[in-house]
Amino acid sequence: MEHYDVVIVGSGHSGAQAAIALRQAGHEEPILMISRDRNPPYERPPLSKEYLAGEKPFEKILIRPEQFWADRNVTLRLGCNVNEVDWMRHVLTLSDDSSLSYRKLIWAGGGDARRLDCPGADLAGIHTIRNRRDTDTLKSELAAGARRAVVVGGGYIGLEGAAVLRKLGCEVMVVEMQDRLLARVAGPDISDFYLAEHRAQGVEVRLETGVDRIEGDGEKVTGVTLSTGETIACEIVIVGIGIVPSVGPLIAAGAAGSNGVDVDTYGRTSLDDIYAIGDCAAHPNPYADNAVIRLESVQNANDMASVAAKSIMGERESYDAVPWFWSNQYDLRLQTVGISNGYDQAVLRGTPSDRKFSLIYLREGRVIALDCVNNTRDYAQGRKLVANGAEIDPDLLADTEIALKEMG
Ligand code: ADP
Repeated sequence: MEHYDVVIVGSGHSGAQAAIALRQAGHEEPILMISRDRNPPYERPPLSKEYLAGEKPFEKILIRPEQFWADRNVTLRLGCNVNEVDWMRHVLTLSDDSSLSYRKLIWAGGGDARRLDCPGADLAGIHTIRNRRDTDTLKSELAAGARRAVVVGGGYIGLEGAAVLRKLGCEVMVVEMQDRLLARVAGPDISDFYLAEHRAQGVEVRLETGVDRIEGDGEKVTGVTLSTGETIACEIVIVGIGIVPSVGPLIAAGAAGSNGVDVDTYGRTSLDDIYAIGDCAAHPNPYADNAVIRLESVQNANDMASVAAKSIMGERESYDAVPWFWSNQYDLRLQTVGISNGYDQAVLRGTPSDRKFSLIYLREGRVIALDCVNNTRDYAQGRKLVANGAEIDPDLLADTEIALKEMG
């Protein structure tokens, strides 16, 4: 049976960074990276932004040039699924029925785009945006002349997709179940701002609205029937309603976890010699009061990968990186640092109509997060306030005459 010192399952940001970090830390034994995706590791954020817009070719979103992996003795086995994990024997069974053994396993499986669960959900013309193939299929339908789109879900993915499609000249409607956009990731003032921006750009937004049914001609989408009973004619549906963590074989093997797979502060699962990192890894996060959470971000993927790689190399470093996120829509750059859940006060710094402002979130007087719109300076300087849990007078935080770096 083939044997690798480290097997990495997944070729997203966390899987790629795990291999890079191992080599940087001096790991020299063979590494195998297995992925269902048929492409060498590439960046995901551009899939709903520049890559969808056709502003960046695929080669420009590769995490490393293709040759990089071979040069470092990282073997890529692409288009291949791990079906079974035997943690006691340290053996994996793959979709081509082969088996291989490992000393350490890093599960960087990420997640699959959640799909609609309603009549018509399997029609052609319904798209998720999670991997290269998704975006390529969507692009080819746009190129073939599709012009009317309904976007289901008003999170990052849905809104970024809506912004690109507007730029490309499509008619776009966004349908969001909650009473505001970006409800999972940002505070209400940011939601209001983005709602107004999308409407000003000509996107029709329906809040507190779900999807009852996708209409079709037996093959392709022809419209979406909303929970209000109204039917919206369209050729394209984009579904951006989150992910389902891809951890089936680990859970089947007995790993602890209910929302993804549970890991400790070193990225270790409950199974010997198996780590999990990135979107699928539920970990205690110091910026969420040590609650066990999953974070879906490039930052979390990269930093957890480094922690797991160090642990494999015998270096104990707890995962305690400051979380950050970003989203580009139109000419707006939203940058978030920290986790605002559970805040008891939000301070507005700047004026939203200037299209450059920040919202600073506090809990019990301490800064826990910032959402910054077109305000990279506040974002960069606010990071220290979040890292230190700085206690600052809200009136001072609101004073744009004083830089945040002067405050903490
Ligand atoms: P993503 O990373 O895919 O953007 P988020 O969880 O941040 O995922 O956002 C998804 C949004 O989709 C949430 O605001 C959620 O309320 C919304 N949503 C989920 N299911 C539906 C649905 N069936 N119809 C409309 N909106 C939905």
